[in-house]
Amino acid sequence: MKFRTILLFGAPGSGKGTQGKILGSIPNFYHFSCGELFRNLTPDTELGKIFLEYSSRGQLVPDEPTIRLWQHCIQVAERDGGFNRQTDTLVLDGIPRNLQQAQMLEGLLKVRAVLYLLGTDIKKLVARLQRRALRENRLDDANIKVIRQRLQTYERETRPVLDFYGPKLVRRIDSTQSPIHVLNEIIGLLVKSDP
Ligand code: ADP
Repeated sequence: MKFRTILLFGAPGSGKGTQGKILGSIPNFYHFSCGELFRNLTPDTELGKIFLEYSSRGQLVPDEPTIRLWQHCIQVAERDGGFNRQTDTLVLDGIPRNLQQAQMLEGLLKVRAVLYLLGTDIKKLVARLQRRALRENRLDDANIKVIRQRLQTYERETRPVLDFYGPKLVRRIDSTQSPIHVLNEIIGLLVKSDP
C-alpha cells in the first residue's frame, strides 16, 4: 500500500520546516524532514561524512543513499508505531528534491497535494537563513556563498519537480504572509481536500 502524502515544497528559507513541524503535531499527520534526518547523523558515520561534504557546498546528497536512508527511517517509524500508513498522512519536507528522487519514490507515494510556498524574494530568503544560522547553529546557513549555491541548486534541480507532479496537484501558497496565515491557508486546503 502506497503512503498517502503531502509534499511541502519551496526554496530554502520559505518556511517548510516551520509549517511541517506544526502539521506533524496534528494527529494522523507524520512530518518527515529530510534535512533534519541528515543533521541527526553523527559525523563519524559514512553517510554523516557524505552529508557534511555536500551540504557544506550547498549541494544535494547523492540520490541513492538519500532514498535508502529515507526508506530505512520510514520502516523504523512504522515498526515503532510512530507512523501508520493505514491511518496517517505523510508530510514530506525536503524530499523528493530532484526529478530522479521523484521517480525513485513514484511507486511508494500517493501524492495528494504539493504545497508550494512561494513569493519571498531572494533578499528576504537570505536574511531568514542567516537568522536561522544563529538560532539553530546551522553551518550551511552561516555562509553567504553556500546560501547562494543552495538557492541555485533549488532553482536548477528542485524546482523541476513541480512539473513532475503537474498543476492539478500543486497548490500555490504565498509564503510572504506571517506563519499563522500560511498555516491557515494550508489547513483550509487540507480540510477541503480531505487528505
Ligand atoms: P533547506 O531547505 O533550508 O536547504 P534542508 O534542511 O532541507 O534545508 O537541507 C539541508 C541540506 O541537506 C541540503 O542542502 C542538502 O545538502 C541535504 N538534503 C536535504 N534533503 C535532501 C534530499 N532529499 N536529497 C539530497 N540532499 C538533501
